[in-house]
Order: sequence, then structure tokens, then C-alpha cells
Amino acid sequence: MADDRPSAVPLLSVVVPVYNEEAVLPEFHARLGAVLDRLPLRSEVLYVNDGSGDRTQALVDRLCQADARVASVELSRNFGKEIAMTCGLDHAQGDVVVIIDADLQDPPELIARLVQEWQAGFDVVYARRTERRGETWLKRATAAMFYRVIQRVSQVNIPRNTGDFRLMSRRAVAALLQLREKHRFMKGLFAWVGFPQQAVDYCREPRFAGKSKFNFWRLWNFALEGLTSFTIGPLKIATYVGLLTAMLAFCYGAVIIARTLLYGDPVRGYPTVMVTILFLGGIQLMFIGVIGEYLGRTYDETKHRPLYLVQGYRPAKESGDTRAPRSTAAHIGERRRARGGNGTAAPPSRGPG
Ligand code: UDP
Ligand code: MG
Repeated sequence: MADDRPSAVPLLSVVVPVYNEEAVLPEFHARLGAVLDRLPLRSEVLYVNDGSGDRTQALVDRLCQADARVASVELSRNFGKEIAMTCGLDHAQGDVVVIIDADLQDPPELIARLVQEWQAGFDVVYARRTERRGETWLKRATAAMFYRVIQRVSQVNIPRNTGDFRLMSRRAVAALLQLREKHRFMKGLFAWVGFPQQAVDYCREPRFAGKSKFNFWRLWNFALEGLTSFTIGPLKIATYVGLLTAMLAFCYGAVIIARTLLYGDPVRGYPTVMVTILFLGGIQLMFIGVIGEYLGRTYDETKHRPLYLVQGYRPAKESGDTRAPRSTAAHIGERRRARGGNGTAAPPSRGPG
């Protein structure tokens, strides 16, 4: 029966960024599928293959064949999780969207509770970890420190102990998609958007199989991204440290002048000169680095490259989306840019499936 009216049953999109996850994907999809079967919603599962080098895409293709709810987007290379999630949100058709990791650290079973809170009227329902199993104390300690710092310095309220595992209503997703910056610290962007939010607690399990893609260097850069995206505090620190040093130098200069006038000018002070030069040189180089971090990011933003390029897109056979494709101002902007020869950054428009 052909029916062009939007279905009354809301559509849930589950966005899953995957990068070299062949070891966990079958188990993940089995567990997720079982959860979706029990939900009173229609659903689509959107796998975003972030340039995997293993058999991930083959597995996703197989899932597309076997399960009519599965859609897939393949990126042209590895763009990183933040961008893969953005791509997933761009392509998600749902009235409500859940983002979840594929490694089963985020239990799919929790989705039912996220949906309950959404039905109770919250736009953003984020999963909060009460415990992190299978992670070293060093990772936990540095993570805790990072969240404390960013909480202090940034204007937005980034809830502690939350990852990207969350549910968002369509209007929250639409708001988020308007933020098209290249350096994407998603936890901050989620918080920036606002709307009524609710936390749901859960215990974070260790990875089911495979290994984490985030080593310490990547996490450090992630932290830098977070700080530079949400505060210009370091630049202010540079100003104040400069001011303080200048004041101290002025006082010390006065002391030297007074001493010279009183006691004459014997040649001495090599150690003080060396210490001062090296100290000031160090501070200057460090703050040039800080300025560089911001300048580099400004440079990246001005290039106006698309956030990602899509290599293949396969809509769900039966997510039940009989509606026109969603489009936001941001999409339209990107489409226009894409027509200028930049590739296909925007989701291809899709008719009734
Ligand atoms: N991921 C991705 N692109 C990347 C790195 C990771 O899409 O460049 C995905 C990965 O497949 C997983 C999720 O992001 O579904 C979380 O990655 P991981 O478990 O390695 O991170 P951790 O839990 O250790 O922070
Ligand atoms: Mg993980």
C-alpha cells in the first residue's frame, strides 16, 4: 500500500562509527538488533566506515543484505571518530538519533532507557559512566584531570564522565549540524547546543575485542582540541605571564640601576644574564607555540574544505522513511560547495526507499 504520509511511529537512527572493527561487529550487531526488536519504534542502523583497512566494510555490506534496517556510509579515508560521527548525523533520517561505539563498551541495552527519557521529554539523554572497567588508572586519572580542567575553563557545561554515547532529538541534531567547524570536539559541541538534558548512569565495560584506537598521543591531541575549541584561556595566560614578567623585570632593573649608582659598575652578573635570557627565551617560545595552536586552527577553518568525503552510501532498505530527505542550512551550504567541485560532502538526496 503506497502511503506518503509520515508514519506515526517515530524512527530511531542508531549511528555507529566503525574503524577496523571486524572483530566486534557481528557480536555488536546481534546485540543491537535484539534491543531494537524490543523497542516500540521503527529503526535504522547507520554504520559509518571511517576508512577501515580490514574487512569491516565487507561485514557491513553483509549486514545490509541480512538486515533491512542497516544503512552504511563509507568515507574515502580515515577522518577520525569526531568527523565519522558528524557524517553519521548528517545521514541519519530519524526523529531521534543515538550515537554508540561499536566495541560494546557502550551497552546497546541501555538504548531502551535513553529512549524512555526521550519520551519523557528530554532532547539530549547522555549516558554517564559510573565505572570504567578495563582501563588503566593512568587513563582514568588523566581523563578525570582533563574533564576538571575543561569544566573550569570553558563557557559551556561539559558533563563529567560522559562519552559520545547519547541520544538526541531531531531538533538537537539539527542544531548540532549547524556547527560545521573543522576541529570538532564533539563533547563540547553537544554541550554547546543545550536543550533539556538528562543523564542515565551505566557501567562502562572493557572493549569486547580488538584494541582501542586512541593511544596517549591521540588522547593528548584530543585534549588540546577540546581546550583550544572551547577556550582562549591559554592566550590570556600568555598575556598575563608577559605582564608579570615585564613587571618583575622593571623592578629588577630599578635594583640594578640603584646598585650601579651606589656601588659603581664592576663587570659581573654573567649568571643572572644567562638565566634571564634562557628563562625569557623559553617562555616566549612556549607562548609562540600556544599562539601557533590557535593560528593553525584558524588557518584550517579558513580553507573551507568539506568535512569529509563519501565513497559509498547505501540507504536502509526498510527504515520506513517515506519522507523527503532532511536538509539543514548547513547541508545546503555544503551541497553548494560540493557542486563547486569539492566532492560529495553532503548526503545524497534520497527518495522513498
Ligand atoms: N573510531 C572511528 N574512527 C577512528 C577511531 C575510532 O570511527 O579514527 C570508532 C571505533 O571504531 C569505535 C569508536 O570510534 O566504534 C570508539 O573507538 P575506541 O573504542 O577505539 O575508543 P576508546 O573507547 O578507547 O576511547
Ligand atoms: Mg572503546
